Amino acid sequence: MDEKLISGKAIGKEIREEIKEKVAELKKEGCTPGLAVILVGDNQASHTYVRNKQKSSGEVGMKSELVELPSTVTEDELLGHVAKLNADDSIHGILVQLPLPNHIDENRIILAIDPAKDVDGFHPVNVGKMMIGQQTFLSCTPYGIMKLLERKNIPVRGKHAVIVGRSNIVGKPMGQLLLQQDATVTYCHSKTEDLPAITKQADILVVAIGRTKFITAEHVKDGAVVIDVGMNRDENGKLCGDVDFDAVVEKASAITPVPGGVGPMTITMLLENTLQSAEQTLAESQGQK
Ligand code: NDP
Repeated sequence: MDEKLISGKAIGKEIREEIKEKVAELKKEGCTPGLAVILVGDNQASHTYVRNKQKSSGEVGMKSELVELPSTVTEDELLGHVAKLNADDSIHGILVQLPLPNHIDENRIILAIDPAKDVDGFHPVNVGKMMIGQQTFLSCTPYGIMKLLERKNIPVRGKHAVIVGRSNIVGKPMGQLLLQQDATVTYCHSKTEDLPAITKQADILVVAIGRTKFITAEHVKDGAVVIDVGMNRDENGKLCGDVDFDAVVEKASAITPVPGGVGPMTITMLLENTLQSAEQTLAESQGQK
């Protein structure tokens, strides 16, 4: 079974080692990549994600800055913090941890982030660039999945990729990135009729729904590559994906586990984007001399 596993834990570690080396090179040139995270309120899951992001950025030698704000913060105050970080030359990446409290318009906050520092790849300018295949910050989870496929030498060209889920941060960009690598892409969502009939056609099945063990063996073709983005808790509080791993692993040729699959790649690609941003800033400043 182990040979079927696509370990984001191992591949993410490998990539973070490479990032660490590049950060050390940048530091020699006087540039320390800096990542700022804005955390609003006391959502426990958000606190855990932010802690992990900070820990990982520290481990690769980046500067990390945390702006912690109460859930009562106003939209204008939050915009003020974003503007301050936009203007801070020591910060190359800005991330606002979602979700935000209901009284704050997430879209307005994302729009306020300088696209050149939008390392989450959520700003419409960067989403647009991604759509037309221009160099930009790619949304971290789909970017991480593309890296997993690449490092495991899983061919994409000409393959039928089925994406279940069409969110702006996972499903939609995932399909675009696979399309750019010449996959034939089908999107499924909650209104899709006869889901198993479609998922069963997938050579590569990416599942990002948010429902515990929703995808069973009946949804999967023999030999399919299965990527499970879901991060859910089962009835015992154990972390699990959208795929019924024990049943699907029998049919899949390769599969990501949860935990240890897609999750570690998301943080890794956030660091990769921050590194790219710092490299770009340094290149621009050297070009100006
Ligand atoms: P969203 O809730 O934004 O989107 C869920 C998508 O799943 C929607 O497009 C929805 O369809 C679709 N869906 C829901 N029910 C069904 C169904 N019965 N059949 C088919 N499609 C369905 O979720 P996200 O994309 O943000 O996240 C998805 C999962 O991935 C979550 O578990 C989340 O925690 C996890 N996640 C993990 C990350 C990681 O790093 N590992 C990063 C980001 C997310 P419709 O549009 O019609 O409503």
